[in-house]
Amino acid sequence: MNKLVLLDRDGVINKEIGDYVTNVSDFELLPHALYNTKKLKDAGFGIVVVTNQGGIAKGKYSHTELDAIHNKMITAFEQVGVQLDEVYYCPHHPEKTHCLCRKPDSIMLEKALARFGVSAANTFLIGDADRDIEAATKIGIKAFKITTNENWEKYVDEILAAR
Ligand SMILES: [Mg+2]
Ligand SMILES: [Zn+2]
Repeated sequence: MNKLVLLDRDGVINKEIGDYVTNVSDFELLPHALYNTKKLKDAGFGIVVVTNQGGIAKGKYSHTELDAIHNKMITAFEQVGVQLDEVYYCPHHPEKTHCLCRKPDSIMLEKALARFGVSAANTFLIGDADRDIEAATKIGIKAFKITTNENWEKYVDEILAAR
């Protein structure tokens, strides 16, 4: 793999509900996310999810509950033939503890690049928050900011045209 797309989770892959997704039943996949990701995968991109999950630090849900949510996500992608390459999350929250992984910091993104040996120049990010874009641009990754829950197919086409 020599190119990557990093995806934020809430508002990009699943419906942003305006609060923490604390259990599997609150996790609603956005159908366009499946097909957009498939298009990227078919073009040879690796796909890594990078998500802030500060609700863990706040005690709203546990790592185990988050694992169940992510298993639901992974399974939904598998059903359309897409293997997500990695899912990274930051379980911290600045009200509880300081960390360097929570976006707009870039450690999760850097981890993805290091893990797959892909350069920032060959990596793109899609997110719906300023902090997603900030984390990416900090390390030279081109980022696309979408409107929360919007279909981001046009950015997939832009990425495919750029490569
Ligand atoms: Mg988001
Ligand atoms: Zn963190």
